[in-house]
Amino acid sequence: MRTPLIAGNWKMNCSVEEALRLLDEMLPRLSAIQGVEKVVCPPFVALAPLARALEGADVKLGAQNCYFEPKGAFTGEISPAMLAPLCQYVILGHSERRAIFGEDDALVSRKVRAALAHGLSVILCVGENLAEHQAGRTADVVINQLQASLEDVLGLDRVVIAYEPVWAIGTGQPATGHQANHVAATLRSVLRGLYGPETAERTRILYGGSVIAANASEFVDQPEIDGALVGGASLKPDEFVGIVNKAAVRLAPQ
Ligand code: PEP
Repeated sequence: MRTPLIAGNWKMNCSVEEALRLLDEMLPRLSAIQGVEKVVCPPFVALAPLARALEGADVKLGAQNCYFEPKGAFTGEISPAMLAPLCQYVILGHSERRAIFGEDDALVSRKVRAALAHGLSVILCVGENLAEHQAGRTADVVINQLQASLEDVLGLDRVVIAYEPVWAIGTGQPATGHQANHVAATLRSVLRGLYGPETAERTRILYGGSVIAANASEFVDQPEIDGALVGGASLKPDEFVGIVNKAAVRLAPQ
């Protein structure tokens, strides 16, 4: 059975002080929820203070991006070697990185390989935009993104896939559970072809895009979906804790 994972992407929000306060408001309640892996991904500057605040806690820390080189003349970039002592996860291939900063699959795959080589776990995002969705090209787009972003990635032990339809991110218009489950099944069949059935069954696939506490069950209850990547609602303690609770309820004996 795959352990559900709920990750909060705080994006470019929160000063260090605000990030510490936000964590403080959620930590006791998050810690009390068993059986769900919980990850928060603050801006880079908050990683070190949050790592200290999370020592010994059952909540993991993630970065929102990294570069693929270990060090050198890459002004403004952060390497996986720098992140590895501070956090466990890194989000890669987020649609905002792809759309605003021009990241393509080739770059994403280099980042994935570098992050894994430095011991980080990766949340690899794929998802179609509105025009692609409306043209019925969702499967084509996500299959291509997944295959290309995993180019030369030898194993998936520390890789989580996040299906994030771009049209659902930050819009308040989530996919339906059925749609998301269908795409997750498609992604899992790609993983089966690339890495074999056991790896595909073990690999977690998240849904992301306007998940809130009130709709979280629709996603986490789907058989192919193993949790959520949460943007806006992860900045609201009651919402984020509520989403994690919904993932925990899925595990409770019926
Ligand atoms: C995201 O940016 O990864 C995301 C899912 O955002 P939101 O939950 O705000 O749609």
